[in-house]
Amino acid sequence: CGIVGYVGDATRTLDILVGGLSNLEYRGYDSAGVAVGGRTVEVEKREGELERLEATLDEADRTRFEGAVGVGHTRWSTHGPPTDANAHPHTDEAGRVAVVHNGIIENYRELRDELEADGVTFTSETDTEVVPHLIAHELQAGADPEEAVRRTAARLEGSYALAVVVAGVDALFAVRRDSPLVLGVGDGERFVASDVPAFLEHTRDVVYLDDDEFVRLDPEGWTVTGADGNRVAKDVRTVEWEA
Ligand code: GLU
Repeated sequence: CGIVGYVGDATRTLDILVGGLSNLEYRGYDSAGVAVGGRTVEVEKREGELERLEATLDEADRTRFEGAVGVGHTRWSTHGPPTDANAHPHTDEAGRVAVVHNGIIENYRELRDELEADGVTFTSETDTEVVPHLIAHELQAGADPEEAVRRTAARLEGSYALAVVVAGVDALFAVRRDSPLVLGVGDGERFVASDVPAFLEHTRDVVYLDDDEFVRLDPEGWTVTGADGNRVAKDVRTVEWEA
């Protein structure tokens, strides 16, 4: 139900993700999770209140979560009950791709059948989990991460805001259709979120994404492209109101 993504200062990633999720709690949720990407992708997720996730993270080795890129999620279950396994982020089998999703993948059943026939083992009951597996297949077939996300989105029916982290890639990827997603442009750091309060304390410069727009963010820049891969010019607006 809530998404936050960050790319920038590796020492700030985890705090920004958890703070962002806390600012999105008003939307309601039943589970929460984060993934931080550096050389590896580290995931922690829990059914229940954000506090449960925070308690787990407090006990974890913080250095595990020092990566320049990360995504966080608060889940409002539609497919599969609220459990740790069904909480987002979801990953591919190698644990190199992590995805958070708001919305519903209407054709997930046929995609899942196809992936399972290919030998892929699923670890959740969600509609979302097809996404990291599809992205991993595209990466394996030689696509770069942005193209892998684009090709995957082309196969999805339904509604989605997706944010994606790939191990070893210091950039964040996101796309939306019929589910809100906004980009935040900070100084040497970038954000995506389902709603601006997630990152408003860090930047007020925002870009509202439209349906079928893809964004690639890294600490130096950001680009928005359409489904055809062509650049789309977007206005940066400054949010004036208080959160
Ligand atoms: N359909 C997904 C699930 O049930 C995402 C739900 C959401 O938007 O939080 O896991």
